[in-house]
Amino acid sequence: MTNYIRWILLFSLFFSALSGEAQKIVNKINKKILPEIVRADMMYLASDLLKGRKTGEAGNQDAAAYIADAFRAAGVKVVPGMANYFQAIPFQKFIPPQSGTMNLLGAQYSVGNNLVILDGGSIQQKGEAIYADYGWIDETTNRNDYSGLDIKGKYVIVQGGLPQGGSPQEIFASMTTKRKFAREQGAIGLIEIYSLTIPWNFFRNYFSKERLEVMEGSSGMPGKIFHAWAQLPTGNKPSFEKGKTLSIEINTSGASSGPVKADNVIGMIPGKNKKLRDEYVLLTAHFDHVGVRAGQVIDKDTIWNGARDNAWGTVSLLAAARFFSKNPPERSILLAALNAEEMGLLGSKYLAAHPVLPWNKVIFNLNSDGAGYSDTTLVAVIGLNRVGAAKEINESCAAFGLSTVADPAPEQGLFDRSDNVSFAILGIPAPTFGSGFKTFDAAITKYYHQAIDNPDNISYAYLNLFTKAFVLTAWNVAGMKNKPRWVPGDKYEAAGKKLYGY
Ligand SMILES: [Zn+2]
Repeated sequence: MTNYIRWILLFSLFFSALSGEAQKIVNKINKKILPEIVRADMMYLASDLLKGRKTGEAGNQDAAAYIADAFRAAGVKVVPGMANYFQAIPFQKFIPPQSGTMNLLGAQYSVGNNLVILDGGSIQQKGEAIYADYGWIDETTNRNDYSGLDIKGKYVIVQGGLPQGGSPQEIFASMTTKRKFAREQGAIGLIEIYSLTIPWNFFRNYFSKERLEVMEGSSGMPGKIFHAWAQLPTGNKPSFEKGKTLSIEINTSGASSGPVKADNVIGMIPGKNKKLRDEYVLLTAHFDHVGVRAGQVIDKDTIWNGARDNAWGTVSLLAAARFFSKNPPERSILLAALNAEEMGLLGSKYLAAHPVLPWNKVIFNLNSDGAGYSDTTLVAVIGLNRVGAAKEINESCAAFGLSTVADPAPEQGLFDRSDNVSFAILGIPAPTFGSGFKTFDAAITKYYHQAIDNPDNISYAYLNLFTKAFVLTAWNVAGMKNKPRWVPGDKYEAAGKKLYGY
C-alpha cells in the first residue's frame, strides 16, 4: 500500500459523512424505494383519467381510493377509533343561480351585474324589507342591531361587513353568522350592501362560481333563506333609514346545494421503540388539484394534471408509507393525504379541528409539496431554520446529494400558505419539504397552476432523490433523542409551549 492510498483511506474514514448506522438506512432506502413504483404512482395520480383530482369530483375520489389501496397493500394500520382510512369532510356544494333580479327603492339589481345571490331557494315575490344597520349582534359590546325591529316575514337590508371593520377573511366568515342572526329573528332574507375595499367584480366573480363549504354540525348550516349582496347604483345612492318598511321585489330560480363526497386519507405505522411509539411524526401531502379548466386551454389541454402540484408530494408520502411499514422508525408515523388544499387548505384545517389522536402526541409535521422546481440539486424547506430539526433535514438531503435552501421567495409567504400551517397553528413544528427553487420566477410560473404541469415533463431522477430525502428526513426526525421545538421567538413558539407544556 503506498502512502498515498493509505492517506486516502484514512481521509475517507475520518471524513465520511455518515456513521455505519446512518449509511445502513440510506442503503436500505436506496434499495427499497424503486424508481418504477415512484413513476407508476406519478403516472396514475397525474393522469388525464383523474381529471385534475378536483375536490368533490370523481377523479379526486379515485385518487383517494388509490392512496387507500396503497396503504392497505403496504400494511399501513387504520388509526384506532377510525372505521377505515377515510376521514370524510362534510362538504356542501353551492351552485348560485346564474340569473335573478331585485327591485328596491326604485333601483333594479340583476345577477351578473350588481347582484350576487349566495343562497336561498326559488322566489317570485313582492314583499317588505327593513334596514337594520349591520345586522350584527354582539353581547360583549351590548350591540343588537335588531333590537326594537319587527322583521318577522320580511327581508333585512344591512351594511356589508362588520361594524368594527375587519379583514376580507373575517368579513367572509361573518356572512354565515349574519345569515344565522337574520334567520333567528324571523327574517326571510338578508341583503348586504356592498362596501368592501376589494373590487366588486372580484367579489362577484368569486361568489358567482360554484363553491364548497365545510358544514360543521348544525351551527354552520346555512339557513335556507335568501341571501344576497347588492352593489348600490353610483350617482344618487338610495339612503336607508333604520326601521322604515320598504317594498321589495325578488325573482330568482334559487341556488342549489347538496352534500359532496371528499375525504382525507389517514393511516398509521407503529414505531419500533416501545418507549417512544406513543409519539408520532405526521407526514402530509395534499392530493387534490384544480380539475378541468375549459376556459384556459393550452395546446388543447384542458386537464390540469397537477404533476408537481401535488402528485409529487403524494408520491413521496406513498413511498414513506411503503418503506416505514416494513422498516418502522423509533417513533410512530401518522400519514395523512390531505384533500381540498387548493380550496383554501380546507382538508388540513378539517383534520386539525378533528384530530384522530391527541395533537400533543404529534411531535412534528413534515409536509411534502412539489408545487414547482427550477433546481434539481435543491430541496426548498419552508421553515427549515424555525422548527428545531435543521440538522436532521440537512443531513438527510445531503445523503442523497441534495442541498437545502431555507425559505426561498419570502415574499410569497409560503409557510402560511401551505397545509403545514394548519398544524403549526396548533403548535406542532411543521415545515414544508418542497421541490427546489430559489426564486418564484418564470421557470416556476410556467408550470405552476397551469395545464402543462404534466407527468411527462418532470425529472424522475430528481423525484426519486426528493422522495428518498423525504423518507430519510422522516426517519431521522422520528428517531430524534429530544423532541424538536420551535426556535425561541418564533411566532408559533407560544402555541408549541401551550400544546406540549414546555
Ligand atoms: Zn396548487
